[in-house]
Amino acid sequence: MKHYSNLVAGEWVEEADSVENINPSNTQDVIGKYARADTRTVDQAVAAARNVFGEWSGSSPQFRHDILEATGATIMSRREELGRLLSREEGKTLAEGVGEVTRAAQIFKFFAGETLRLAGDVLPSVRAGVDVLVEREAIGTVGLITPWNFPIAIPAWKVAPALAYGNCVILKPAELAPGCAWEIANILLQSGCPAGVFNLVMGSGRQTGKRLVEHPGIDAISFTGSVPTGHEIAVKCAETGKRVQLEMGGKNPMVVLDDADMEVAVDACLNGAFFSTGQRCTASSRLIVTESIHDSFLEKLTLAAGKLVVGDALDSSSQIGPVVDRTQLEQNLSYVALAREEGCTVTGGEVIDGPGFYQRPAVFAGANNQMRSAREEIFGPCASVIRVADYDEALQTANDTEFGLSAGICTRSLKFANHFRRNVKSGMVMINLPTAGVDYHVPFGGRKGSSYGPREQGAYAREFYTIVKTTYQAA
Ligand code: ADP
Repeated sequence: MKHYSNLVAGEWVEEADSVENINPSNTQDVIGKYARADTRTVDQAVAAARNVFGEWSGSSPQFRHDILEATGATIMSRREELGRLLSREEGKTLAEGVGEVTRAAQIFKFFAGETLRLAGDVLPSVRAGVDVLVEREAIGTVGLITPWNFPIAIPAWKVAPALAYGNCVILKPAELAPGCAWEIANILLQSGCPAGVFNLVMGSGRQTGKRLVEHPGIDAISFTGSVPTGHEIAVKCAETGKRVQLEMGGKNPMVVLDDADMEVAVDACLNGAFFSTGQRCTASSRLIVTESIHDSFLEKLTLAAGKLVVGDALDSSSQIGPVVDRTQLEQNLSYVALAREEGCTVTGGEVIDGPGFYQRPAVFAGANNQMRSAREEIFGPCASVIRVADYDEALQTANDTEFGLSAGICTRSLKFANHFRRNVKSGMVMINLPTAGVDYHVPFGGRKGSSYGPREQGAYAREFYTIVKTTYQAA
């Protein structure tokens, strides 16, 4: 079986410990053994990064551009193969896997261009004969901690801006799906990224991730993952004076109004709630439906969800792949049981026998927004359908959550669409579109309990990955 090592100071380093990367579609299929970094490896990676930071941050933007451009081009040319790897290790369908790899390539190419677009400001001073320059510089050595659900896109949207703006990087991917992050490391190396500028430390959150967060040589941490881990990381970053950015959970509402185009609404909800097995932080998990359309919408949604083909991620007929692992499947099943206890009528949600962790999409009808099953993030193919009287109650229900990542509305009314856009408390708003599915050149992030710190992606990523310097210059 192939063994994958960590990358430190431009060298592949062996570890005493490793973990098997298992295919959730077929648990007999082991993709490889992936190293687990101990604290010494993390310390070496941080030292290597700090050692080359001066040279890297002072390198020409064209040099950084060319490395990121070459990385993007290689990922794009290998998208079918890397898409297969992604689907094999994470379980999303092959179309989704190839789509995500394509996205990662586009992100690297976008940030190649950003190396040349890092504008500042020149202003007159309040004093005569003095100019004021506001410039952006790299922060230093950044620790990037990523989850398993987008194993190539999320590493890409943190690594690419970090490198573009001149930072050195230590990437710690999730243990459940480290394969794509290893490929990014290998491609960066082949694309001429200098030793120590990018380091990969695969390993557990409790050991490798924890050391990264606590290390005094790390200047900033960007994290995507669960709420409790995010909170723990924020506290540690505050204690050690690190800049921190967190992307955490969601319980994203999708409002369906009486005047919605039924086909658009059912498609958006089906996609938003169940595609990628519901394992997206932007998934539509609360479908908030007004009185007159409720019953026919529910009937059509339930029928369509029942027809979705659940199966092996690499089988082209599958529309929904497996749940990522046994722990997540058990969590999903406990919420299916809870929804029933809370009084919902549950359709679907059953486990399907097979070599992997297969579960049918679940619709929780008759839900209300006070139920735990409608308030807590499940991260599986489960959606609560909440009946409301009118638009006002729909908006109030959409906002009645501790999260605020994405929010959608299906309506043909410009008045309601605009009112919703202005008044919903979320970082992203989708009108007649699924709550999931975002572009790479515009800000990504949420409000309230979903996010902390500046936005990710697009040119806004510079808010996190650069630090501002103000210079006063007399003539
Ligand atoms: P998920 O439910 O997506 O696995 P986690 O928050 O547990 O969410 O994990 C997200 C990422 O954070 C993973 O790379 C994981 O290894 C890492 N992680 C988990 N616990 C810690 C921790 N205490 N400190 C740093 N990183 C951690």
